[in-house]
Amino acid sequence: MPDPFQSLRGIGDATAQRDVLMANCTTWKVGGPARFMVRAGSVGAVGETIKVAGDLGLPLLVLGRGSNILVSDRGFDGVVLCLVGGLATVRADGELLVAGGGALLESVVVEACDSSLCGLEFMFGIPGTVGGAVIMNAGAYSHWTAEVLAEARTVNEDGGERRYQRFDGKYRQALVPEGEIVTQATFHLVADSVELIRERMNEMRDRRRANQPLGMASAGSVFKNPPGAHAGYLIDRCGLSGRRVGGAVVSEKHANFIVNRGDATASDIRQLMGLVSGEVRSRSGIQLELEVKLVGFESG
Ligand SMILES: Cc1cc2nc3c(=O)[nH]c(=O)nc-3n(C[C@H](O)[C@H](O)[C@H](O)COP(=O)(O)OP(=O)(O)OC[C@H]3O[C@@H](n4cnc5c(N)ncnc54)[C@H](O)[C@@H]3O)c2cc1C
Repeated sequence: MPDPFQSLRGIGDATAQRDVLMANCTTWKVGGPARFMVRAGSVGAVGETIKVAGDLGLPLLVLGRGSNILVSDRGFDGVVLCLVGGLATVRADGELLVAGGGALLESVVVEACDSSLCGLEFMFGIPGTVGGAVIMNAGAYSHWTAEVLAEARTVNEDGGERRYQRFDGKYRQALVPEGEIVTQATFHLVADSVELIRERMNEMRDRRRANQPLGMASAGSVFKNPPGAHAGYLIDRCGLSGRRVGGAVVSEKHANFIVNRGDATASDIRQLMGLVSGEVRSRSGIQLELEVKLVGFESG
């Protein structure tokens, strides 16, 4: 049996590390160690990582900015794959904006603005990556990633490259088949003046500042909005704002956010999620569905 770390270190155009604390890689700032982390800078390196992890019998987790996941305190006993370098670049090409799967949404929105391209302002302030946005169909203020996505390129579980150009944009549902790794997205935008685009970006930022506990560690909305209702409203109506488990607290500013006071564990957050969904179910009969992804838990 080859030494797993040596095999991962042998992947071209990538770097590998051992025992990387996931608390340092997620916006909730919780989570135990990942056994291995590979930072891949090309599609070839992604394909090779899939193959090496498969040969070693290790599960693979693609990580963007870690702004929509809860990693357990035990961590992840496998390979965490991050997209960097050539897979995190952004460039404008006429009315198209081409971005690597690992590019931060903030740099994508700023590049669009600098290139006088409008359509991505709604993403301003969503602290994720392009890959995470395609997987979550990230959206805000009645706009969604699917609306502006012209093409997504992926690598599938066999290491084969795929391209998609039609998207069935459902609320918080992946825009590419499950298990595929988003390496690039092309957005189709519209020309507009830089001043107007910047104005709309500032408007988005101000709305977020007014309604979200931005100074505290969180993963944004914990639960999906059920059809015709707002999860935050349902949670608040049950008197759960301010409810605590250990260092995890239901935000009093936005009840669908669970914030880390600074000393929360993933277990605190998981327990508080259970408490909230249990109360909402028993008081309103509505079963809330998690928006955040669970990693390293028995049920996730
Ligand atoms: C303060 C705050 C505000 C937020 N506001 C919003 C909002 O307004 N709207 C909204 O939609 N979300 C919001 N979010 C949630 C989050 O930012 C989005 O869901 C974002 O799209 C997640 O991107 P990420 O790169 O952080 O993904 P991660 O959290 O790293 O991963 C999420 C999932 O996507 C998968 N994934 C990540 N990258 C790839 C890839 N390249 N290929 C395949 N799979 C991949 C992961 O495996 C995981 O299953 C907010 C979060 C915070 C902390």
